[in-house]
Amino acid sequence: MMREVAVVGAGQSGLHLALALQADGHRVTVVSERTPEQVRAGGVLSTQAMFGPARAIERAAGLALWDGAAPDTDALHVVVGVDAKPMLTIDASPREPAHSVDQRVKTSAWLELFEERGGRVEYHRAEPEDVVRLAERNELTVVAAGRGALGSLFARDEARSPFDAPQRSLACVYLHGVGAPADAPAGVGDAARIHIVPGAGELILQPGLTLTGPCMILLWEAVPGGPLDVFGDSPGPAEMLARSLELIRSHVPWEYEAVSGAEPTDAGAVLCGAITPTVRHPVAHLGADGAAVLGMADTLVLNDPITAQGANNASRCAGLYAAAVTGHGDRPFDDSWMHDLFARYWDQARHTVDFTTAMLGPLPDHIGLAFAQAAAHPQVASRLADTYADPTDFPRWLGTPEATMQYLASLPQTSM
Ligand SMILES: Cc1cc2nc3c(=O)[nH]c(=O)nc-3n(C[C@H](O)[C@H](O)[C@H](O)COP(=O)(O)OP(=O)(O)OC[C@H]3O[C@@H](n4cnc5c(N)ncnc54)[C@H](O)[C@@H]3O)c2cc1C
Repeated sequence: MMREVAVVGAGQSGLHLALALQADGHRVTVVSERTPEQVRAGGVLSTQAMFGPARAIERAAGLALWDGAAPDTDALHVVVGVDAKPMLTIDASPREPAHSVDQRVKTSAWLELFEERGGRVEYHRAEPEDVVRLAERNELTVVAAGRGALGSLFARDEARSPFDAPQRSLACVYLHGVGAPADAPAGVGDAARIHIVPGAGELILQPGLTLTGPCMILLWEAVPGGPLDVFGDSPGPAEMLARSLELIRSHVPWEYEAVSGAEPTDAGAVLCGAITPTVRHPVAHLGADGAAVLGMADTLVLNDPITAQGANNASRCAGLYAAAVTGHGDRPFDDSWMHDLFARYWDQARHTVDFTTAMLGPLPDHIGLAFAQAAAHPQVASRLADTYADPTDFPRWLGTPEATMQYLASLPQTSM
């Protein structure tokens, strides 16, 4: 049964949903505020590390166009540094490799693919009245506008929203020419590297594929007002790199040599900002008739990127919504269908909120203990790495002190 669906927003979730619905034979209209050329010529949008399960959803939808081209990341290297000295190091191998494809590369190509396959794209910034018009003309309208202003069409869910202000200032730069850190074990140069400076924030280095080829993506997660929070004026790529090197020299000097010879990948290689983690109610009623529209991904469940969950959630959400639309036959997409669908998404996404909330605050003692055990025991380290890929595991072993103690006690070789 062919349905008429509008998708507002041409990012990770909206285009995945649109392409999947198109493949299922539905008539889909996408609203994109930028053309593919404008996306490619613009600034970076994310660090977009995607793990095995989310990559599998893309693969199943025929959308994994960069497997083989984007470097696989099959190792995680975590260092906790105190007073500019590494105090604890975790080396983990996740069950499946992650990768990161610059969303400028990915969403511009997906948008072109959607159009090549006969999809209809309206190129403009959608205002609320455009969403009303789309809702009146389509059987289903989905708002996939990410962190954009259209999110405010959906009421904030106070009970589920963990914070009312950003917990990190974000600053990201894409680089060519980053090497391996000094004295690191073999393979760390190709790993995702997370450096934790307790109280100040984190430095994350993620291998990726950008417009100009393979690169390293450097992301500062700075506690607001702390010593790493120095990018509030949104500097350009060269200045971002220069200040990053100064911070690395002072706080994580074991990375200095590896980054000192690097260069920004392009003029748009930087992104600065801050995110207030927010959960919203899934359905908005718009216009004189109160037409129902459904939100998705970041529009409804927005996390700080410290645990690299948003793009993975977007892929999960798109896969779930696409299957639900096609599986709905010719029945109406009414309020109760929308609420039930979001409830199924929330059932997964809530674990990303809990995981991210835990990692943003002062680390609870039991998670600190799990980190310490992960430094000593590869199987604990692997479970930690796999929790990023599948956060539904978070409550089973990190959600409470009891869960952590029970898990650690079940390991014959750990001593506490
Ligand atoms: C610094 C940073 C690092 C990150 N790192 C990771 C990571 O490593 N791993 C991970 O999984 N996630 C990461 N994320 C999060 C991830 O990028 C997002 O969660 C993901 O892209 C969300 O997908 P989405 O479709 O909801 O929104 P988006 O991908 O943001 O797409 C929204 C789209 O809607 C468009 N839009 C907005 N308003 C309008 C409008 N009014 N009219 C028309 N179009 C509109 C936007 O232009 C955009 O194209 C990171 C985010 C940031 C900021």
